[in-house]
Order: sequence, then C-alpha cells, then structure tokens
Amino acid sequence: MNKRAFIRIFAAAMASPVFSPLLGRASAAKLENWAGNLEYGTDELFSASSLDAVRSRVREQSKLKVLGTRHCFNNIADSKNSFLSLKTMDDVVALDPAAHTVTIHAGMTYGQLCPYLDAKGFALHNLASLPHISVAGACSTATHGSGEKNGNLSTAVSALEMVTAAGDLVILSRAKDADAFHGAVVGLGALGVITKLTLDIQPTYKMRQYVYENLPLSAVKDHFDAIESSAYSVSLFTDWQKQRINEVWIKSREEKEQAFDATPEFYGATRATKNLHPIAELSAENCTEQMGVPGPWYERLPHFRMGFTPSAGKELQSEYFVPRQHAVEAILAVERLRDQVSPHLLITEIRAIAADQLWMSPCFEQPCVTIHFTWKPDWPAVSKLLPVIEKELAPFHARPHWGKLFTTSPTELKAIYKKMPEFVELSKKYDPQGKFHNEFLNKNIFRNQRGVFRKLGDESKFPV
Ligand SMILES: Cc1cc2nc3c(=O)[nH]c(=O)nc-3n(C[C@H](O)[C@H](O)[C@H](O)COP(=O)(O)OP(=O)(O)OC[C@H]3O[C@@H](n4cnc5c(N)ncnc54)[C@H](O)[C@@H]3O)c2cc1C
Repeated sequence: MNKRAFIRIFAAAMASPVFSPLLGRASAAKLENWAGNLEYGTDELFSASSLDAVRSRVREQSKLKVLGTRHCFNNIADSKNSFLSLKTMDDVVALDPAAHTVTIHAGMTYGQLCPYLDAKGFALHNLASLPHISVAGACSTATHGSGEKNGNLSTAVSALEMVTAAGDLVILSRAKDADAFHGAVVGLGALGVITKLTLDIQPTYKMRQYVYENLPLSAVKDHFDAIESSAYSVSLFTDWQKQRINEVWIKSREEKEQAFDATPEFYGATRATKNLHPIAELSAENCTEQMGVPGPWYERLPHFRMGFTPSAGKELQSEYFVPRQHAVEAILAVERLRDQVSPHLLITEIRAIAADQLWMSPCFEQPCVTIHFTWKPDWPAVSKLLPVIEKELAPFHARPHWGKLFTTSPTELKAIYKKMPEFVELSKKYDPQGKFHNEFLNKNIFRNQRGVFRKLGDESKFPV
C-alpha cells in the first residue's frame, strides 16, 4: 500500500463516528511499513477516535496490535490478527505551563506537536532525525536523537494513560509509580494501548546547525569525548571510506553558555559552505537549515524537514547502542569491516545518548553511543552482514534498536537487558493472555521466559 492509499484509508476511518474495519479488504494492495520492506500480516485495521472506542475494541479482540506511523523496519508492530490505529486521536489534551508538561493524545506526531509547543513558548529536549513519527510509537521503542546530555525521547515522558488487555484504564506516573512506570514507558507495544502521554517541556529555544566535512578518523580516536561534548547535539556521518567521517552535524543552542564556536576548522574537518544531505550526493532540499542560520528548535533538531520524504526513501536501517566507554573501540571495530559494509551502505550515523532509568531502553543505567546503518534496500545482503557486525560489537554488549533490523539472538537480548524478567512480569499483570503479543515479542521477549504464557494455545505456532 502506498502512502496515498494509507491516508485515504485513514480519511475513511475519520468519517466513522466510533471505529470501523477499514478498507484493507476492499483494496488489493497490502498494508506495509514506511520503508515498504515489510508487508504486515493483516489488513484488518480499525481506527478509534475516543477512549471508549479504544476500550471496547480492546475488549472485543483476542489479539491486537497498535499501529503508530509504521516507521519500524522490523516486525515489532506487526500483527496477523488486527490493528488498532489512534491516528485520529491527535490533539493536545492540556498544557501546564507551571508544571512544564504537555499532555497529548497518543495518535499525535512530533510534526504536529512541535509547532504547537513552540507557539506556546515551549520546547522538547530533543527530537529524532525526522518529525513524522508518532510520539507514542517513538517512545515505545526508545527512539532517540543525539547529545550526550540528552536522554532518548522516552525520557521526556512523565506520565502515561494506557488501556490494558481487559479494557481497564491504568495511569502511571514517574512521580507516583516508580517501578511500573519505568517498565511501561519503553513498552514495545506489549503492555497495552497507550492513549495519553504527558511529556516534560521547557521554555522554547533557538538553535543553529553547522556541518563540517572530512573529519579524520584519527581525530575520532584521539578526541571523541571532546567532539561529542562540543555542542548540544552532535552526529557523525560516515561511509567508512578513506579513514574519515564524511560529515559532522552540530546542533547548537543559542543560549550563550551552550553556543558552539563555529570556527572554520573543527579537529581537522572543514566547515561546509552550503547545506548538505547526510549522503552528500543527495540534494539537501529535504534537510533542515544549516550554515548557522538561527531557527526554532524543532526545525534544527531533526535532520529532515516535515513535509518532505525523509532520509533516503528506499532504505533499510539497523542501529546498535554501545556503552559510551567503548565508543571508540566499537567504531574502530566497525571500520575494520568497511570492505564488507560499504557496498551495501547508504550512510552510517554515530550519535551519543545519556543514560536513563527505563527498563527496556538500550540506555538503561548506561550512557551510550549508537552506530546506525542506513542500508540499500537489499535484505538478503544486509541479513548476512548483520551477524558479522553484531559479532564484532558483542564484546561491548551492544544492544540493537528495537525498531530497526537486527539478528541478535533472544538469548543474547535476555543477557543484555537485565530488567527483562521484570518487564515480562509487568506485562503479565496488564496482559495476562498475551493479547498484545506478536511474533516479534514472542521471539525476542517472551519465548525464553519459562512458565510464562504457557497456557496460550497458539504460542507454539510462532516461528522460533
Ligand atoms: C526514516 C526514518 C528515520 C528514523 N530516525 C530515527 C532516529 O533518528 N532515531 C531513532 O531512534 N529511531 C529512528 N527511526 C525509527 C523510528 O523512530 C522508531 O522505529 C519508532 O518506533 C517509529 O514510531 P511509529 O509510530 O512509526 O511506530 P510503529 O512502527 O507504528 O510502532 C512501533 C511500536 O510502537 C507500538 N505503539 C505505537 N503506538 C502505540 C500506542 N499508542 N500504544 C502502545 N503501543 C504503541 C507498536 O505496537 C509497535 O510495537 C527512524 C525510522 C525511519 C523510517
């Protein structure tokens, strides 16, 4: 299904007062994820436009997945049974200037939320590379931007409202429900249907973005900490060729104490003289403004602009979180694979993320550096390469991004997510029969948990 058809279907859903089985069955085209590399297991897509509609839909269905904006590259959002979309529940519920919070309905995207916040004089602490994604879907997979002092986007969540498998309403907050809250925010869609999120906000701020070209790899070896801490958000883009980082993207806040001194040279890299795309050969038209032009936070933190197809378009993505102290070793380990990696790569991005307390976050109690791969859309080749990269990164206990492609084994995942048993227990509380489980969750989270969900008749059918 192309994007236009998808929008048509949602438009049809909006016409329905409560919820409606959508036109999937009327259309020959299948429902796909954003990248088009995954055809979902069902076209049965229901849209809920109210909390009551969500609750009755959840009660009625024995199996159900919430579909956000379909930006995951793996089958974490997939279902063989039915989907629920909250896309029409996309408004702001309350802005609390005194508490510095905003509460939104879970269908809202960052692209919708950010201009609203800015107009009211507020901002979020960080954003991902693109604003097109739903806030609930992004927070459910620990989506992140860059900045060594910035936690991932889920760390802005201070409370959430969720419909459990029984159709009950649960509200969890950072202030009142420490454990369950920390388990539920990066919930991987496994605990319930998030209907509202409360996010921390701060006074709005302006930013400038600078790009430098050709940073020598030796500078990364010798000055990685200084480079990463040079500005509010720093991203390194490389094709792993010629012992260099192709582009360094620096996002600097305007406040005096945080402003980046944009000298013509930066650790051997040279300041660009025009806007660039992370893949230098591509037009920078869909990229956010660079060259130090000041602008609002939400038009500088993402790399890609709202209203344009982000990134390269036809692509696959993988990403690994490496504990910060191993950053340079890990980068050099991947660099040694350059001859295997480069033929299939569009671009790599390296970012830094602060530690957090969220159980299933790859940055749980651990500041990280991420090594991301935007691949050419050739899954047979990429699927052979991922185990090679994962083997090199295994000594650093690298954790894969929940929403991107990986081949890390469930056993390894269990070993590197020490809170996984508690997460499984929490999910039993809110979803005892596995209503929100799917093949991804059964394989990567629930399969290894002895005794859990053993009563479920259909679990054995999932491929292992
Ligand atoms: C071009 C591109 C650029 C990207 N850039 C970045 C980046 O910079 N940084 C980064 O970390 N990631 C990035 N990603 C990955 C992306 O942000 C995540 O995969 C994110 O989860 C996508 O959100 P979504 O709403 O599209 O999720 P979906 O794929 O629709 O769903 C993801 C998960 O969230 C669950 N979910 C969604 N809504 C709800 C809800 N209301 N209640 C309960 N569960 C819910 C789903 O069931 C599923 O398990 C990028 C992806 C693309 C395609």
